[in-house]
Amino acid sequence: MIDLKTLWEIQALDLERRSLEGSLQEGDLARKLRALKNGIEENRAEFNGLKEEYSGQKKELKKREMDIANLEEKIRFLGNKLYDGTITNVKEIANTDRKMENLREEVKRTEDLMLAIMEKLEELRRKMESLSSEMENKATQYRRLHGTYLGNQQNIRKMLARIPLARQKLLDVVDKETWKKYVEMKKKLIDPLARVEKGACMGCRVGIPFNDLRTLKLGECLVYCQNCGRMLFWEK
Ligand SMILES: [Zn+2]
Repeated sequence: MIDLKTLWEIQALDLERRSLEGSLQEGDLARKLRALKNGIEENRAEFNGLKEEYSGQKKELKKREMDIANLEEKIRFLGNKLYDGTITNVKEIANTDRKMENLREEVKRTEDLMLAIMEKLEELRRKMESLSSEMENKATQYRRLHGTYLGNQQNIRKMLARIPLARQKLLDVVDKETWKKYVEMKKKLIDPLARVEKGACMGCRVGIPFNDLRTLKLGECLVYCQNCGRMLFWEK
């Protein structure tokens, strides 16, 4: 009587190890973590750009403030000349009046410019604030996921560590002849042993001919799938 249950269990262990090793290499979590990290770095670069722009605008604002102070100083100077009697010539008075008027207009233009700069500063500040909270959210998410990730990795390593001993115990009792055939087939297939369910090979999902099924259920010799070539395992 051929019993393939042990072989089936060894194969299950090997497949499990393969899948565990796969999830150690690259998992959904690892991908998410990387995406978050990249996102944070992009945000930070954008934030630094905004910060630089902000300080540039701030300097510009200071400069305009000084411009206005200078203009007002000039206006005061001309005003004094006009009222302290230094200028008496009518033409010169008209000239000075016009100069002062021009200076006042320049003050007005500069003030408008300053308002625009202040609006810009406000907008930059809002953008920086929203970026900053976005980064904070991502960082929190990253820390949380990273904790889960490390825990998962640890669990996977624990599960992997249990496999060799369990596998050795099965190897000690597996039928040696069948094992040799199986190992030979394993060079081509990762799962050379296929379970039979509802009269079909679960390796390729193709139905097994009636005679093969009968032989399989009698359990007197090995039966192979005529379609995919896998060794067939029928569990009573
Ligand atoms: Zn098959």
